[in-house]
Amino acid sequence: ESKRRRRNGFHTFSPALAQRQQERLQTETRLRRAVDNNEFHLVYQPQVDLRSGRIFAAEALLRWHNPELGPMAPDRFIDLAESTGEIVRIGRWVLQEACHQMRRWKEQDLPIERVSVNVSYRQFAGENLAGSVQQMLEEAGLPGHALELELTERVLVEDAADTSKVFDDLRKLGVRLSIDDFGEGYSALNYLRRLPIHALKLSHGFLQGIPGNKSDEAICQTVVGIARSLGLGMIAEGIETEAQRDHLLRLGVTIGQGFLFAPGLLPGEFGKRLAAQA
Ligand code: C2E
Ligand code: MG
Ligand code: MG
Ligand code: MG
Repeated sequence: ESKRRRRNGFHTFSPALAQRQQERLQTETRLRRAVDNNEFHLVYQPQVDLRSGRIFAAEALLRWHNPELGPMAPDRFIDLAESTGEIVRIGRWVLQEACHQMRRWKEQDLPIERVSVNVSYRQFAGENLAGSVQQMLEEAGLPGHALELELTERVLVEDAADTSKVFDDLRKLGVRLSIDDFGEGYSALNYLRRLPIHALKLSHGFLQGIPGNKSDEAICQTVVGIARSLGLGMIAEGIETEAQRDHLLRLGVTIGQGFLFAPGLLPGEFGKRLAAQA
């Protein structure tokens, strides 16, 4: 079938393809109105001390519920939002909302150190990211260390002219910076020496074969070794089993997150869990 379609280098008309393009266009249009229509909310996944299970921080994860399209996880719209540039506005909303939520938990005297927010590489170019982060922290009355930004290696590869200036400015605010999905992308190790990073997040893909799969085990051990020798923190994500947690503890990783502990929770539920351990 695919041979016939590619004859002479031309694609014959494909209803499936046309439909996908149509859907993409519709999603794009709706995405543009989503912030103004209050269609986004955040869920918060606990980050825990692996030894005790105690929650000390939260990762904010974006959820989109459009009335026509239904609920959608980020994997279905982040790429699109990045390609249209809409992610910049969405990302600003996410930062603001996460800071406000952090503020509410603090006002309730709940014991939480910080909230971690995913930031797209697109938020680094052009717009003054450090400036708007500073403003949001001030508005919410939070110290810089109450916020962590999770960046993917793509930020470093795209290397928008001022990346290292933005990193420095954020660092001066006291904001923590971590590299998400470490090892999954490009892993140009040289930037780790250059940029003021606090922590690496071990990509959950490497935990899948653990314990047992020798190459997954070797990769985990290597990433932990890199973090340790550079004096960086290490956090594991996607921990689903006790065996994975125990293996990580043996490697010396003491903090992490995953379905073993909790999925992303609505703020009220997250607050209850914090209150229960206070
Ligand atoms: P991520 O930052 O690496 O987030 C972790 C993803 O793994 C989340 O998926 C989370 O729900 C899922 N997860 C957590 N624990 C487990 C586990 O034990 N097992 C498995 N299999 N998965 C687990 P989610 O919420 O669908 O987010 C997917 C990705 O979308 C995120 O990956 C992040 O890259 C991106 N994303 C999420 N929120 C935002 C946002 O506000 N802004 C931007 N730019 N990207 C976001
Ligand atoms: Mg993340
Ligand atoms: Mg990740
Ligand atoms: Mg990811």
